[in-house]
Amino acid sequence: MKKNYSKYQTDLSQWIDLTSNIGGNVVSFVVKLGNNPQILDISSNVYQLFGYKKEDLINDKNKIPFIIYQKDIKQLYLKINRLIRSKVKNHSLTFRVLTATGTIKFVEYFFIISKEKEDTNIKLIGYIVDTTQKKKFQDKIDYLTYYDSLTGLENRDKIKIRIDEELESNISFNTTSAILYLNLNRFKNVNDTLGHTIGDKLLQHVAHRLKSCIKEEDSLARIGDDDFVILLSKLNNRTLLSHIEIIAKRVYGILERPFLINGNLLHITASIGVAILGNDGKDSNEILKNADTAMNLAKKDQDHYLRYYQNNMQKDTITNLQIENDLNIALKNKEFELYYQPQVDIKTDTIIGAEALIRWHHPKQGMISPFKFIPVAEDTGLIVAIGEWVLKEACRRIKELQDDPKIPKTFKKISVNISSKQFRLPSFTTDVKKIINDAKIDPSFLELEVTEGALISNIDNAIEKMLILKELGIKFSIDDFGTGYSSLTYLKKLPIDIIKIDKSFITNMHSDKDDKVLTQTIIQMSHNLRLGLIAEGVEKVEHLNFLQEKGCQSYQGYFFSKPIPFDKFRELLLEKVLLTDTA
Ligand code: C2E
Ligand code: CA
Ligand code: CA
Repeated sequence: MKKNYSKYQTDLSQWIDLTSNIGGNVVSFVVKLGNNPQILDISSNVYQLFGYKKEDLINDKNKIPFIIYQKDIKQLYLKINRLIRSKVKNHSLTFRVLTATGTIKFVEYFFIISKEKEDTNIKLIGYIVDTTQKKKFQDKIDYLTYYDSLTGLENRDKIKIRIDEELESNISFNTTSAILYLNLNRFKNVNDTLGHTIGDKLLQHVAHRLKSCIKEEDSLARIGDDDFVILLSKLNNRTLLSHIEIIAKRVYGILERPFLINGNLLHITASIGVAILGNDGKDSNEILKNADTAMNLAKKDQDHYLRYYQNNMQKDTITNLQIENDLNIALKNKEFELYYQPQVDIKTDTIIGAEALIRWHHPKQGMISPFKFIPVAEDTGLIVAIGEWVLKEACRRIKELQDDPKIPKTFKKISVNISSKQFRLPSFTTDVKKIINDAKIDPSFLELEVTEGALISNIDNAIEKMLILKELGIKFSIDDFGTGYSSLTYLKKLPIDIIKIDKSFITNMHSDKDDKVLTQTIIQMSHNLRLGLIAEGVEKVEHLNFLQEKGCQSYQGYFFSKPIPFDKFRELLLEKVLLTDTA
């Protein structure tokens, strides 16, 4: 063997010297393969590159496995074996080298394979280029191209590649994968009112919590403002659905816990759409689009946060466009009606007021939920005209009740939901004044429900408007309290009369300890600030007992009555109907 090697040693040493002269990060090698691979020769600039001495590396059969990064050895030997059998002369390989100081260098090895006839050993003759810097640079470019700089999660391009790869490998491995498409509810509120810095921090916290829900082989991406995608990789066909269900539940639960950011307690939830790879689309574009469709339907569904994509869902999306068209004529065609949900004093069990809730009797679709059409009305601006109608109609009913001597004196008010778009109109106060004057009502019978979002975006302007209307005797309540940011500082500043605890706290109270604690905190806070309090969504006697025990004065919810048409509500006030008939 020695003889054979010395046969072309002259050429080789020249070649090795050549790379020594080039210097820099080029190092040449002669490697003998066999059962005990070893380095036969190496150019002298190796010292600089890997930090070893020449004699450390040469002719030592233990050295190669030691200097090559452990995780790359097996792949490297497999590849070399394959190359030896191929007919191609020039080869290149990439692997990592462990330097004498313990750092890792990325190197690319360019070589030819040489075998003398009589020699049993194969030699690789070639040189190595240190590509560590290039790799770092490439990683940086990859990061900028494929990762979201705010959260460090994968971005849309990367998750698309991952989904397409997954589609391929599922065919080979007979596995299935699914994506969960997540959107945060009310995130826009946080951004609009508390600003982007807090919005961004919230997204980072959300990303952090989401990471804890997935396995190493799964992927997590942020593909839009508050849109996240989880790719659940290589699932067993039989346990697919239960696996999705478990992860979705975990995700929902982990986000439901409040976030404390810069002193603001933020309470958010997520809507999730699911698409199964292969089943619900042939490529990443289609799969993402379909999961998005499912997510949007989950968002509109009051009772479910999770929806699976189904083929006929696109039809529903078209119906949404239809909603937009049909809303335009709904007012003129008198298709709206106000229902009234009683608000009840917890101690005396008497009706103290009602919340007016709009209903749309669509000529073809039947009753359409405000959850479905109010967001469309807000997007298109139609909410202004609809809101005006709601206010006029509610005032008309207030007048009827106010003038009716049979109505008990315990009945004090009707509350009306005011969309933030409506509230922000410069003419809002004069519009309301005019409606009240025209209806000739006692303004103290009117309560306006606004959300924190509507108030906080321009707090000084909001306070000014509220003070003008409060001077007339109108009351203000904060709707869905606890779901936005519920900052005490703001709350103290605002001239509000009543807090409405959001129904999500009440409904989940018995499954979620945090909700119980939060409800209790809100009750305590309302006492300290001397504000009235109504709990929404009271469905069970357990809810009522807890609220009563903690000192909440009033509530509304299915437990007492669902929202009902005006005539029924009036009868209820006069105690002419049985409560059980009201649903
Ligand atoms: P909201 O203001 O939070 O109204 C309470 C919603 O909770 C109502 O849904 C009501 O029917 C429902 N609800 C009441 N008690 C319970 C209960 O015990 N359990 C459960 N699960 N739900 C209960 P609705 O009537 O479908 O209204 C949905 C939303 O649409 C309202 O939420 C409000 O944001 C909006 N909305 C309704 N009417 C109007 C309106 O006239 N103007 C504006 N701008 N928005 C409106
Ligand atoms: Ca409300
Ligand atoms: Ca509410």
